[in-house]
Amino acid sequence: MKLMLRTKFSLYFIIFFAFSFILISVLTNTFAHKYFKEYVKLNEEQAHKSIVSALEHKYAENATWNMELLDIIGANSLERGFIIKVLDEFDNLLWDATIHNEGMCQRIIQQMHYNMNSRYPHIEGYYIEKTYPVYYHSDNVGTVKIGSYGPFYMSEYDLAFLDTLNRIIFLVGSFSLLCALFFGSVMARRLTNPISKVIDNAQLISKGDFSARIHEESSTLEICQLTDTINNLAKSLEKQEILKKRLTSDVAHELRTPLATLQSHMEALIDGIWEPEIERLKSCHEEIVRISKIVEILGQLAKYESENLSLSKTTFDIFGQIQNLLKHFESDFINNKLNCKLSGTKTLIHADKDKITQVAINLISNAIKYTNEGGEIQISIDNFENTVKFTVRDTGIGISQEDLPHIFERFYRADKSRNRMTGGSGIGLTISKAIIDSHNGKIEVKSTLGEGSEFTVHIPHKEVSNISGDY
Ligand code: ADP
Repeated sequence: MKLMLRTKFSLYFIIFFAFSFILISVLTNTFAHKYFKEYVKLNEEQAHKSIVSALEHKYAENATWNMELLDIIGANSLERGFIIKVLDEFDNLLWDATIHNEGMCQRIIQQMHYNMNSRYPHIEGYYIEKTYPVYYHSDNVGTVKIGSYGPFYMSEYDLAFLDTLNRIIFLVGSFSLLCALFFGSVMARRLTNPISKVIDNAQLISKGDFSARIHEESSTLEICQLTDTINNLAKSLEKQEILKKRLTSDVAHELRTPLATLQSHMEALIDGIWEPEIERLKSCHEEIVRISKIVEILGQLAKYESENLSLSKTTFDIFGQIQNLLKHFESDFINNKLNCKLSGTKTLIHADKDKITQVAINLISNAIKYTNEGGEIQISIDNFENTVKFTVRDTGIGISQEDLPHIFERFYRADKSRNRMTGGSGIGLTISKAIIDSHNGKIEVKSTLGEGSEFTVHIPHKEVSNISGDY
């Protein structure tokens, strides 16, 4: 049977409480009764002793038995519920409560039977007489027999006390049970409300609605972790969804121009408007190459833009790596008459070597592409307390202020006509940003149109510190 967490929680709470309550009640009752019985016995002994000492005292007043005084002590004792018999040293009966007031004695004995039978029906009770010697200057001057109930006796007051005790235990128990019910259900609600919200949200997510978020606050650590996890899941699915939609529209947009060009060229060739000259066919071929390139970069984009870009980190010298890289660009520098300067020292970083190299290639090849002949490219590596900074500065064409906020967007090209010439696809910076983001770093750009650009990459030192280096 499947029960709701709330019901289960309340049920466990009640069962646990009921068990504790029964245990406490049984233990309290058992021990209270045991000690109370002993107390009652002790009390009875004290009362008997007080009767004996009263008799000894009255005997001592006259050094003999005084019948009047005996009568007073006997009657007093009877009123307190004690049936006594007094005998002299020769065992002659001096005073007997049953003779003095037989009716009252009968009532006292009946009451004793009644009290004990009603409370302890399983105990075989009996009336007994306890005998105590009476002394005067250490001479035995008589005996007193005091009626008692065996094995123990509880008066109405004693029984009333026990009843009150039981009633208090019952009332406290009932009150606590109500409290347990109340707090149990409040706690269960506090615990299950956020879980219900999580379930609702998870159902929305499974139906494809990723915009819903759980705002329920909870003081329970696991609940907070659960809601955070679901919120993050929704966020990442939402991001994936947006990326998917954007990718589709961007691809459609990118393919539209070369396809339209190709289509019009082909139609012109088919309709005989154009002769199939080499130049015309070359132009068609260029468009086909463009389309193939777009298709090729789509795969790369999907890989880099997904949240879980997997990094295989090692410790390497970024300065040494750039130095090696620049050797591959040497011919570009010479062909474009560019002056390249590298500054910095050996700097170990813990990062994905291939992907960081990919970023460096993108930034350096952009600097080469967008810098006119005779220009200068400066590359520097700076080691700061919290980050390692890698900068590529050029004296190229620069980027306008309106293009600057968009250059990291995919397929964005600031200067479309020049890009066509340089063969730019507009995804190099998008990929670079995705790589740096996945290293928890930052990529920034400063640029002035006509003067040049400066791209700065910050890789957090947290990724770098405490590494002895395997370089
Ligand atoms: P592309 O393949 O077109 O270079 P990128 O994503 O690398 O794609 O760059 C996006 C756009 O940003 C480029 O088309 C260009 O307009 C601009 N850009 C990038 N780097 C530079 C630079 N160093 N100087 C001037 N413009 C740049």
